[in-house]
Amino acid sequence: MSNPTQHTPIFDVAITGGGLAGLSLAIQLAKKGYSVILFEKETYPFHKVCGEYISMESWDFLRSLGVDLDALNVSHINRLTISAPNGNLLEHRLPLGGFGISRYLLDDTLVQIAKANGVIVKENTKITDIVFTNDIFIIEDGENSYTAKVACGSFGKRSNLDVKWKRPFAIAAKNNTNNYVGIKYHVVVDLPADIISLHNFYDGYCGISKIEKGMYCLCYLTTAKNLKKSNGNIKAMEQNILSQNPHLKKIFSSVDMLYDAPLTISQISFAKKSQVADHILFIGDAAGMITPLCGNGMSMALHGSKLAFEQVTAFLQNNISREEMEQRYVQEWNVNFNKRLQMGRMIQYLFGNKTVTNIFIAIMKPFPKLVNFLIKQTHGKAF
Ligand SMILES: Cc1cc2nc3c(=O)[nH]c(=O)nc-3n(C[C@H](O)[C@H](O)[C@H](O)COP(=O)(O)OP(=O)(O)OC[C@H]3O[C@@H](n4cnc5c(N)ncnc54)[C@H](O)[C@@H]3O)c2cc1C
Repeated sequence: MSNPTQHTPIFDVAITGGGLAGLSLAIQLAKKGYSVILFEKETYPFHKVCGEYISMESWDFLRSLGVDLDALNVSHINRLTISAPNGNLLEHRLPLGGFGISRYLLDDTLVQIAKANGVIVKENTKITDIVFTNDIFIIEDGENSYTAKVACGSFGKRSNLDVKWKRPFAIAAKNNTNNYVGIKYHVVVDLPADIISLHNFYDGYCGISKIEKGMYCLCYLTTAKNLKKSNGNIKAMEQNILSQNPHLKKIFSSVDMLYDAPLTISQISFAKKSQVADHILFIGDAAGMITPLCGNGMSMALHGSKLAFEQVTAFLQNNISREEMEQRYVQEWNVNFNKRLQMGRMIQYLFGNKTVTNIFIAIMKPFPKLVNFLIKQTHGKAF
């Protein structure tokens, strides 16, 4: 362990991971006058594998942080189409709706707001350990160490720290619930601006919806098994497996891809996670990841930061003990998100099987109230 750097202050809060959860927590705390340091291993702005559709429940919260969504020209989305692998199409008006914005733009906007509010942002800084000792956290990046009264982990789906700390989901044997790959493109395509489409294919689904500047985000999730079947060749998988769905065949043959190669991530797990360990509060995907077909992970990351903010500030004001802060955060997190996670896993399970998905879409089609019910189970209210 490197020595804590002499003369560095003890920060009120140290946040590891500068995605939506980490950045939004940092902004809330800094606006209340707390000293915050945030570590991000990448350098802003940067792209991320994400469908980039945000449920409307986050609109007011993002605006309260200082994000001028109107000025960013986000796309408003209020219709959903879902296709079965056989092409059968279900069309539905979304009860709450959402908007499209790239993570490249949104995360960069948030980091600018964080910096303007006094957050110390350490980019290109990968945290290698966080240790709790004598009621203080020591946060290590391999060369330097930093100290803080509260440590939050918002390092996303799977990080070096999950593996180092042997969090159960990170060391579990690979199976059907923990070995997905995510692939994303920004594209130009001729599709309605107000629709998000979810096209199912064998062992996966692909979302497509509009973001800013006339671009669309095309992002899909599938099993590592599917990619292996195509010898690890993404193009071959898109041609041989995804394009069996006639809607995807049409899309892949007509889009203009805006990157030379897609952005990819692997080893995505939807297994249960803990929300606190060794006194570190986990937020966003680090606390639990909802299946992407729900289009709610970003709202959960943002909402989760608000739940953490409430308990962390109560602790820093000496209104509650550290143990109470941790217990209350875990309780609030589960009250707000547990049901959504369970429902998301169940729907993904149904969509994972080609025949079941074909039948499921055919059954759901004449029952818009049932579709509404399922969507509501995977979403929350404005927070
Ligand atoms: C294929 C796919 C499609 C999706 N589509 C949607 C969608 O359309 N709508 C939706 O709402 N959600 C969607 N999601 C979910 C959504 O992307 C996540 O829920 C959301 O990004 C979670 O935010 P976060 O802040 O927790 O994590 P992230 O945004 O992943 O941020 C974590 C950050 O931590 C950094 N980091 C990691 N380790 C370290 C370290 N050791 N030190 C420093 N920094 C570190 C990373 O670089 C990263 O920037 C999708 C997910 C996938 C996989």
